[in-house]
Amino acid sequence: MTSTAPLRIGILNGDDIGHEIVPASVDIARAAAELHGVQVDWHPLPIGARALETHGHTLPPETMATLQTLDGWILGPIGHRAYPKVPDAINPHPILRKQFNLFANVRPTRSYPDIGCLHDGVDLVIVRENNEGFQPDRNMVAGSGEFRPTDDVTLSVRVITRAGSRRVARAAFELARQRRKHLTYVHKDTVFKLSCGMFVEECRKLAAEYPDVRVDDVIVDTFAMRLVRDPQSFDVVVTTNMFGDILSDEAAGLVGGLGMAPGLCIGDGDVAMAQATHGSAPDIAGQGIANPYAMIESTRMMFEWLGHSRDNEGAVRMGASMSKATTAALADRQARTGDIRGTGNTASFTRAVLKNLHV
Ligand code: ATP
Ligand code: MG
Repeated sequence: MTSTAPLRIGILNGDDIGHEIVPASVDIARAAAELHGVQVDWHPLPIGARALETHGHTLPPETMATLQTLDGWILGPIGHRAYPKVPDAINPHPILRKQFNLFANVRPTRSYPDIGCLHDGVDLVIVRENNEGFQPDRNMVAGSGEFRPTDDVTLSVRVITRAGSRRVARAAFELARQRRKHLTYVHKDTVFKLSCGMFVEECRKLAAEYPDVRVDDVIVDTFAMRLVRDPQSFDVVVTTNMFGDILSDEAAGLVGGLGMAPGLCIGDGDVAMAQATHGSAPDIAGQGIANPYAMIESTRMMFEWLGHSRDNEGAVRMGASMSKATTAALADRQARTGDIRGTGNTASFTRAVLKNLHV
């Protein structure tokens, strides 16, 4: 039986272009929810630079307390590098990912006609481990994981655990099963024999549980080359944190740039966080020209995921309608933004998606 319980969703604009692309995404999701009779309770919450001004903290305790009660939230990009150097001006990202155990960052790459993609027919998903690697859990490694024992030497610690590798690999195998049943694990165990070696061991062990999924094992430098030359040969890709960070920007570059790079952060709990791959793009903020596609698509992924996890058929249908509407809007040169060969702006793209929303 389908659930009709209201979905409790947070709205966290973030910084810079976040104030433009998050409201656009919310407008579209609201309209899609209404179309499919999905009840959504929306909760706007302070975060980032504006929260520092109003609440004295970039991640106010009130925000954290409300997040605990939600099904999911839309997180706009955070411009933490521009924050003043005061203790309460922390980067909220790692705290959110850790607190809610959002260890898998699911980042799809898909090509569309006429928007400046380098290849046609690209449809792959990179699953980036989110909480370990060179950006480790602060509880495991003191400070940021970097040390400078003398003024001339710096050490960076990369944390790879069996449990962390296994859980992200499992998320990727499950995703592969829902798609073309092909999983590529990307690593460098030829050099990082212990750390990448452990990641690969866990991927291989799990492969035995998924005999229906074809697996490929590719060294990261080879993968970077093959991604440029032959991106159609990949379906789901799983990799460690920093490789995933770099490769998902490379993948975005294949299909029109960062404005085309959505993401969903999930874990083994029951919350999901919609978060585009790109940053807060301060260079174009306030001009109304940011491409909202990645944020809208991240939002769509969240509703679809919640639809499946809550047996809420309306939310799944919402996702399907949003997907058709964004595809139609991308085909409209006058509606889409300049970064993807359009003559429009954030508002015209949003209007085009709204106009194309149908049951
Ligand atoms: P971070 O460290 O947070 O990932 P970054 O240094 O990678 O940030 P971004 O803010 O992601 O930088 O963006 C790099 C550039 O890409 C921006 O300066 C902007 O010109 C462009 N860009 C990013 N997102 C968008 C978008 N949604 N629409 C249009 N252009 C964008
Ligand atoms: Mg970046």
